[in-house]
Amino acid sequence: MYNGYFKDAKKVMMRLYEEGFIKRKVVLEAMLKVPREEFVPPQYRDHAYIDAPIPIGEGQTVSALHMTAMMCEYTELKPGMNVLEIGTGSGYMACVYCSIVCAQNNGRVITLEISPSLAKRAWKNILRVGYGAFIDVIVADGSIEPPLRMMFDAIIVTAAAPHIPEELIEKLANGGRMVIPVGSPDFYQELILVHKDTSGNIKKENLGAVAFVPLRGLKGISY
Ligand code: SAH
Repeated sequence: MYNGYFKDAKKVMMRLYEEGFIKRKVVLEAMLKVPREEFVPPQYRDHAYIDAPIPIGEGQTVSALHMTAMMCEYTELKPGMNVLEIGTGSGYMACVYCSIVCAQNNGRVITLEISPSLAKRAWKNILRVGYGAFIDVIVADGSIEPPLRMMFDAIIVTAAAPHIPEELIEKLANGGRMVIPVGSPDFYQELILVHKDTSGNIKKENLGAVAFVPLRGLKGISY
């Protein structure tokens, strides 16, 4: 499914592995499996494997490759986990998570997108690359309480929030991890790891500076 871009993919993924952004084989394999060129607009296909954010329309971007890898590593994704993503964008990152967690046909990825048109395009991309059986794309405002019953082993927020939403911490299963960029969209933000231990206690860790597009919506940065 790589349409001639596999060489580019292999080169950059091996570099990210050597540099330590990709730590585990399971993440390397997932990143090698999902064809990023299928998720970017046609004019960017030849640049699908640069390690930088790429515009996907409506002022949004698909995150850089190293950031995608870091999200998978910090949340310690493994087969069988249930993952919630806030900010579907192109659908690329959801497919990478899915490639790890759905490997034994039991994990799930649910991804929320506030823009109906981006959600529609992401769903088409996800179906085209063959991940439609394990991913749900839902048009919803992820800055407020997610309209979902289930709890998640990992929550990955791919837009910068003004603060860590309590509603999302509540959706973390015991032992679960969330990564979320927090801070002003005008400058850089801090990537925060929230870990809920097996007894339900919360620990937060600052993973350093990052730059994301703003989380919109009712409790987001811009409405
Ligand atoms: N993970 C994406 C890239 C994220 S870009 C990918 O793989 O391509 C950030 C996305 O978050 C954008 O698509 C934007 O529309 C979406 N977004 C912003 N605010 C949101 C909110 N409150 N709820 C859900 N999605 C939101």
